[in-house]
Amino acid sequence: MKILSFILGTIMGSFYLVLATRLPKGEDIVKSRSRCDNCKYVLKWYNLVPILSFIFQRGKCTKCGKKISSEHFFVEIFTGLLFLLTSIYFPLGYNYFVGLIVVSLMIIIFISDFKYMIILDSPLIVSIILVVILKLIYFDFKTMLYSVISGLILFLVMLLIEKLGTLILKKDSLGGGDIKFAFLMGLILDLKLGIVALVLSTFLALPYALASVKVMKKHEFPYGPFLAGSLFIVFFHFDKFTNLINFLFTI
Ligand SMILES: [Zn+2]
Repeated sequence: MKILSFILGTIMGSFYLVLATRLPKGEDIVKSRSRCDNCKYVLKWYNLVPILSFIFQRGKCTKCGKKISSEHFFVEIFTGLLFLLTSIYFPLGYNYFVGLIVVSLMIIIFISDFKYMIILDSPLIVSIILVVILKLIYFDFKTMLYSVISGLILFLVMLLIEKLGTLILKKDSLGGGDIKFAFLMGLILDLKLGIVALVLSTFLALPYALASVKVMKKHEFPYGPFLAGSLFIVFFHFDKFTNLINFLFTI
């Protein structure tokens, strides 16, 4: 189970990298074959085996010998490890499948938001559909409905923050992708933990925000990775955060 999860992760990681780097540039991911960036050699199946191809080719193109970006290698390994982690944390079931969705979103958003400042719609839509189906399979319609309403509330909270931010700062404060992602956070975590995750994301983002303003002199920075990271932390420590909420509500 653990080995299978790792292997599945490396394969999916390879796909996520393609998705997160080609879609923002408007390239077709189904029709366009993977090619060497340098000589345009169309990669064969044995050039596309996650991790192994990179090692056996010593990180070079088999045709022209040009160095291949080690990005592929690291994204594949990292996704494999996160899938493995999910299988260590959760037994096969609802939490395991949603855990895989959470880490997948995190990988895709880290790449696309840091690189292109964009959160793609398609992974969000696919995730929402999958989570709703999983809730219906493992729980019931009422549970699913409560989660959808939680998602809508978080969506509206983020929308309100964005509108206020835009009013005060006189420029766009949050991206549309961030607001849509908040829906997914509520859908997965439900209302209380969803709010906890939103608050946590601001703490996670603060050091990076300060660094990008003070050091890099930028006035824009991607917020998606911190939302996704926060969702990951809260979902994987569900019990601890639930205890924390219960504690806060009793005092
Ligand atoms: Zn080449």
